[in-house]
Amino acid sequence: MATENIYNPSLNAQPPPRARTSAPNVIVLCGTLIALVMMGLCALVLYQGRVDALDRARDTSRNLALLAERDIERNFELYELSLQAVVEGVQRDDVVNLPPHLRNDVLFDRAATARDLGSILVLDESGKIVIDSASVTPREGNFSDRRYFTIQRDNPSTGLYLSSPYASRLRGGAPSIALSRRLSHPDGSFAGVAMLSINLEYFRNLFAGLSLGPHGAVSLINRDGLMIMRQPFDPLVIGRDISKADTFRHFRAAEQGSFTETSSIDGRRRLYYFRNLPNLPLIIMVAEGEEDIYAAWRRRAAIIGSSMGVLAVGFIALSFVLAAQFRRRMRAESELQLLARTDGLTGLHNRRTLGEILDQEWRRARRTRSLFSLLFVDIDRFKAFNDAYGHQAGDDALAAVARCIGDNIRRPGDTAARYGGEEFVVVLPDTPADGAAKIAEKIRAAISDLSIEHAGSEFGRVTASIGLASWRPERDDDVSALIRAADEALYDAKAHGRNRVMPASLA
Ligand code: GH3
Ligand code: MG
Ligand code: MG
Repeated sequence: MATENIYNPSLNAQPPPRARTSAPNVIVLCGTLIALVMMGLCALVLYQGRVDALDRARDTSRNLALLAERDIERNFELYELSLQAVVEGVQRDDVVNLPPHLRNDVLFDRAATARDLGSILVLDESGKIVIDSASVTPREGNFSDRRYFTIQRDNPSTGLYLSSPYASRLRGGAPSIALSRRLSHPDGSFAGVAMLSINLEYFRNLFAGLSLGPHGAVSLINRDGLMIMRQPFDPLVIGRDISKADTFRHFRAAEQGSFTETSSIDGRRRLYYFRNLPNLPLIIMVAEGEEDIYAAWRRRAAIIGSSMGVLAVGFIALSFVLAAQFRRRMRAESELQLLARTDGLTGLHNRRTLGEILDQEWRRARRTRSLFSLLFVDIDRFKAFNDAYGHQAGDDALAAVARCIGDNIRRPGDTAARYGGEEFVVVLPDTPADGAAKIAEKIRAAISDLSIEHAGSEFGRVTASIGLASWRPERDDDVSALIRAADEALYDAKAHGRNRVMPASLA
């Protein structure tokens, strides 16, 4: 196991390079980024789908409005022609003087029997029915109070007039609207009114055929803001004044258009499409419920959105797992690296690492021409120690000596390594011989002070001899010469009685 050396950081495991430590974070960041981009693209596609749904709904509404408008305009054109024929007919004496049944056949063509047409009436100056399309003998009735009558009487220039909805007195209160034209005497004075009533059932049937989804609505409104017909049908809504509603303001602002608004009638939010009919004072409005427009989109968005969300979360989780695995592998790698660089018994650098450090420090010293010292430490009579106390005690003594060496080198650049067996090398960059000698002496004294009993030694305890060599910048040797010199100095130390520091005599 590696022993931590608190005095010399260079003895400890080197932290892995920065680029590699940030790699797991980069993996997580990339994973998150990709997931976010995926989510963003999904959101974009879904948003586009929503816009498309709205466009489609607008197109559908426009088509339905046009369809209804054509039907209404075509029918009203026929009604106008019928009414015009009556106006022209009653001004001809030969027609008026015909027997009533013949006169009716001439005045009211077959169009007058159309399903939703109420009746065509000719009223005299007092509003009394004088000619009735439904009966050869006119029914009893006076309509001088009706707006379609008074407006023609009071304003000769009115022309064709389309009334507001009213309850027909002749047809049991059936909701109707009327078209009226003024009849004039040859001198231009008021002679009465020709009117044609249209049963609002016509619009109801027309709108009922339009499919607009469960919350859709179609309305026909006159330009004064009175409701003529609405689908879904509610008799109470007919004739209601919506001129103050927000929706109606939109209808009057342009010939046609579309907008989203909350209905004043049922409070539902809808997409409205409206058209002011070009030839009639009517506005047709087709509205689709917002919830119908987006129903299919919402279902799709929920499925796609949640799947994408799960996918994105999964992707991020995967990147975290990957990063964790990467981190674990890096840690294992750096532990292995540390093991490969340190000596298992002492925790000091091993010989291979020493080679690298020496090479590096040597080149640096030569480049900067700085002093460089090296100590060769060898335990005295260690073979005898092993023989006397056993290999395990020998190992313990080796570890204790290694700790002593480590404890006595303090500068960051200083390193100690196990050279082999009971031999250690201490590398001291930027250290002159006298400084190195002081450190060597401290190491020697510290080993001796461990006071490990060694009966086979002349000192009675474990001691070490130290050879010291320093490189002077003016010399041109290589590092092996320095090691050799330290080794020779060590040999000298042994020869001079052991347990001493001996500087090399570099001549
Ligand atoms: P000198 O004072 O001249 O250095 O004598 P010495 O006995 O220390 O030198 P020698 O080179 O003859 O013996 C070195 C001994 O160190 C040999 C071996 O028993 C012992 N030794 C080497 N490596 C280890 C080791 O890893 N563990 C133990 N316990 N002993 C070792
Ligand atoms: Mg030896
Ligand atoms: Mg020895």
